[in-house]
Amino acid sequence: MAPVALARLTALLPPERVDRVETYAAAARRLLAGRTVWNISSTARGGGVAEMLAALVAYAAGTGVDIRWLVIGGSPDFFALTKRIHNRLHGVPGDDGALDAAARATYDATLAGHVGELVDLVRPGDLVLLHDPQTAGLAGALRERGAHVVWRCHVGVDESNRWTQEAWGFLQDLVAPAHACVFSREQFAPAWVDRRWLRIIPPSLDPFSAKNVELTPREDKSLVRRLGLVVEGPAVPLADPFVLQVSRWDRLKDMSGVLDAFAGHLAELPPDVHLVLAGPADGVADDPEAGEVLAECRDRWRSLAPAARRRAHLLAIPMDDPVANARTVNALQRRATVVVQKSLAEGFGLTVTEPMWKARPVVASAVGGIRDQIEDGVSGILLEDPRDGAALAAALAGLLGDAKWRRELGRNAHDRVHEHYLADRHLIQYVDLFAQLLG
Ligand code: UDP
Repeated sequence: MAPVALARLTALLPPERVDRVETYAAAARRLLAGRTVWNISSTARGGGVAEMLAALVAYAAGTGVDIRWLVIGGSPDFFALTKRIHNRLHGVPGDDGALDAAARATYDATLAGHVGELVDLVRPGDLVLLHDPQTAGLAGALRERGAHVVWRCHVGVDESNRWTQEAWGFLQDLVAPAHACVFSREQFAPAWVDRRWLRIIPPSLDPFSAKNVELTPREDKSLVRRLGLVVEGPAVPLADPFVLQVSRWDRLKDMSGVLDAFAGHLAELPPDVHLVLAGPADGVADDPEAGEVLAECRDRWRSLAPAARRRAHLLAIPMDDPVANARTVNALQRRATVVVQKSLAEGFGLTVTEPMWKARPVVASAVGGIRDQIEDGVSGILLEDPRDGAALAAALAGLLGDAKWRRELGRNAHDRVHEHYLADRHLIQYVDLFAQLLG
């Protein structure tokens, strides 16, 4: 990961924020001298964790901290299991598999395969950030090695149920050796996490990444040619307004639900408005369900009436070129009239923050971290019941008919991201945690 000077980011910040982050960067250099900060996750691209790590690691390296990012692999069985855990942490079963002794054996065997290499790399006194359930089981070995271990969980739901309890039952003794835990929201942390070592650190967005950087008209045009990536529906007529949801093909993102709400309430929406649902063309490394969910969504599209099929477009964007992928999403988000995120559960939605940064009006489910991201009616619209397609359609109809309101929500959305969700706040929170761990 090439280092990026913090100055790139601070150019956007008011002087008091520049001073604060520079003071922290200097403190981090002193505190972390002679140590390495390791990030360990299970996918290098696709999904919010990879998106965020790429930016944070680059900025941290730019401040002179020795920081690295390792990605662990695993068998399809391992990723099927960790996806099951992921789903259950969101309160849904995912599949009918168990989290039993056999599952634990699969999990342990995969991580045992990585431990040898990791304990060679990580030195006593280093800091290790383990991301999500896929890596939780490394905490014990790395603590034994003498590292300071933080487990960061990027997912969660506000209210626990039998599925979350089952997943936490699986994870509890794996996470226990970690010195500290980080969650995006207080409500996501199970009761057994030691509150003295629990930190709430929401994600952040990088305005200069390929996903978020401003595009020249030429770049925008060339990218839009990639909209030939339609897998269902006619080519997107870019002169017309469109509603967009960008997500991995994951049932919790409810792409099919967006399609149903749009098609079922077509008559209430302006006649020239289209719907674009965009997701990765090929699987994200640690997400084995993607192919199935895309197929379900395509089936749903095929079952729509012709009038809806003419105006709904499913796009599958290749992931092989991460920069082209990111720029395509960027262009789509910038051009969208309204952006939707109809998630049924969401730890924190970068797909909400990204269009907010681009001053787009966002309509999103009032679930998990999205409740913090959007102030309802001010910097976007929250839908109390994520399954209520009629409410989504009504919110869309209201916004699509009112350009002034769209502009106002978009402006406030941008300001909210600027104030709360940029990397300076995020890096500062990490430095505070490291200082406490090493203090
Ligand atoms: N994303 C992408 N291409 C796609 C679909 C999603 O680059 O086809 C990105 C999206 O822009 C965002 C991330 O993947 O940066 C998704 O992060 P989010 O926090 O919204 O959800 P997650 O996938 O982590 O559950």
